[in-house]
Amino acid sequence: MKAAVLHGAKDVRTETVDDPVCAPHGVIIKVNSCGICGSDLHWYKFDGHEGTIFGHEFSGDIVEVGRDVQGIKTGTRCTAVGFSPCDECFWCRQGKTHRCQDMDLLGYQFPGAMAEYVHIPFAAVGRTVFPLPEEMSYEDAASVEPFSISYFSGNRGQPKADDVIAVIGLGVIGLYAVQILKAMGVKKVIAEGRRPSRLEAARLSGADVIIDAAAQNTVEAVMEATGLMGVNTVLECAGNQTAFDQAVEIARGGGKILLVGVYEDPLTWQPLPVIGKNLTLIGCLGGNFPAVIELFKAGKVKTEGMISHRFALDEAAQAFRTQLEDPHAVKVMIKP
Ligand SMILES: [Zn+2]
Ligand SMILES: [Zn+2]
Repeated sequence: MKAAVLHGAKDVRTETVDDPVCAPHGVIIKVNSCGICGSDLHWYKFDGHEGTIFGHEFSGDIVEVGRDVQGIKTGTRCTAVGFSPCDECFWCRQGKTHRCQDMDLLGYQFPGAMAEYVHIPFAAVGRTVFPLPEEMSYEDAASVEPFSISYFSGNRGQPKADDVIAVIGLGVIGLYAVQILKAMGVKKVIAEGRRPSRLEAARLSGADVIIDAAAQNTVEAVMEATGLMGVNTVLECAGNQTAFDQAVEIARGGGKILLVGVYEDPLTWQPLPVIGKNLTLIGCLGGNFPAVIELFKAGKVKTEGMISHRFALDEAAQAFRTQLEDPHAVKVMIKP
């Protein structure tokens, strides 16, 4: 089959690789759509991950079912998550494999969905494989994974309707978080980003206040938008020092900071303001596919205006360059 293979820093090539072999507990999916994730770019930018086939935000049709799999038929349209626990660590030995400290992940430690076919090593309906409602498009289905991260993160803050919540950093996770918070009924969501394409996507996502970090002082703009009160909750989706410092400044007393963005560099920070304001820092890593599929069914979240580019599998190199460098790129999809 054809797959997009990473050969070194910023070097993705579409080439022929071995077809996947279906494990007894696995399924093989013919891929329809697969998004490029910000996490993929963290590996794409540097040497050291040669041979990786990315792709964990995808949808397609099941074409082969392992002999020990129950309740899944070929032809089923689905999205899926792929992980393979180590079976040896503290958590795995207690049967809590979702907490495994040495988990292999689809699209990183084993081949992902930027290929004609992808193998999910452990297939269970509702746990790793999620059949699609009839009306759901493949592109929406390929967006369930990033939406699910936004959902999980937003939910960690236990938002209330009259909370004022700021989303700092308008990558796709931040943009989808704006949609999720609005879907959860939060009346005032402030979105802060830089690129015009992302600010426009934030508007389409329902943000009530949009801050252009290229032209405005973020802290001043948030204070102005909140009558100098600051916000109840910050979703820090940028993953850098500036954004973290801003989050601490704009959180009001007793507020929460949800750490969602992936930090490439460590932070230097003075904990005193966090102590003085009784802030709560909450790490966020997790998903919730069924909740997001329900939101799509209810029409409460959408991908219109979010998917900015589409490429064939043969154009994977260009797709990655676009996602990393094109200022107009929001979410880039590969369509095997
Ligand atoms: Zn992702
Ligand atoms: Zn483990």
